[in-house]
Amino acid sequence: MLRLENINLFYGEIQALWDLSFTIEEGQIAALLGANAAGKSSTINTISGLEKPSSGRITFLGKEIHKMDPHEIVEKGIIQVPEGRKLFNYMSIQENLELGAYSKRAKKHYKENLKLVYDLFPILQERKKQLAGDMSGGQQQMCAIARGLMSNPKLLIIDELSLGLAPILVKKLLKALLDIKNTGITILLVEQNVQHSLQISNKAFVLENGRLALSGPASELVNDPHLKKAYLGM
Ligand code: ATP
Repeated sequence: MLRLENINLFYGEIQALWDLSFTIEEGQIAALLGANAAGKSSTINTISGLEKPSSGRITFLGKEIHKMDPHEIVEKGIIQVPEGRKLFNYMSIQENLELGAYSKRAKKHYKENLKLVYDLFPILQERKKQLAGDMSGGQQQMCAIARGLMSNPKLLIIDELSLGLAPILVKKLLKALLDIKNTGITILLVEQNVQHSLQISNKAFVLENGRLALSGPASELVNDPHLKKAYLGM
């Protein structure tokens, strides 16, 4: 579904991504893992068109996208749920969700997507009139994912799902991601929390200093000695 081939990305003279290549298959959950400053945000911002690679190629469903503007990439069905949620705090939950359905593609599917997100996260329906800024951290993350789903994604990229959330909430959100995957939406989960991500992913990529250090089926990576030592504290 998504293919990155030999992507190099610079910020001025600083190189953030080095010859990065990987593929994501349709209908799966892939995890992009790595410590602080490993290059995770740079990678997804390049996929979303917010950063332009100096060389390399990205294709989505067979079409080149790496020269497209972000809004064109959104219209293709790649939607990013940003780190820190970035909700409109002084708007209600329902208004935040409506903004997710801004694009032409999404407007057509507004009703069915609203049903999907309220089925996934009933609390959002119960509190739809409440200001997003008054919700708890976990509920805000649900709202951010729901807003992403309102954009009618084919590929949903979620940046730092678990950041600042209690383990019980993270568990709930991971379960929701499996439900989302079962509707046919492909997910790229970007996380520092390696253990959580590997539990629900089909495949994972580990970045170190802007380079792909490890990749493979999540079930195999869980037993990789380097990964265990560096990220799981074993
Ligand atoms: P984090 O989890 O902390 O967000 P990350 O894995 O997402 O880390 P990136 O944010 O992609 O990593 O950063 C990769 C490298 O690129 C880091 O060394 C960072 O300092 C650098 N970098 C990121 N954005 C910029 C920028 N706009 N200008 C200059 N350097 C940048």
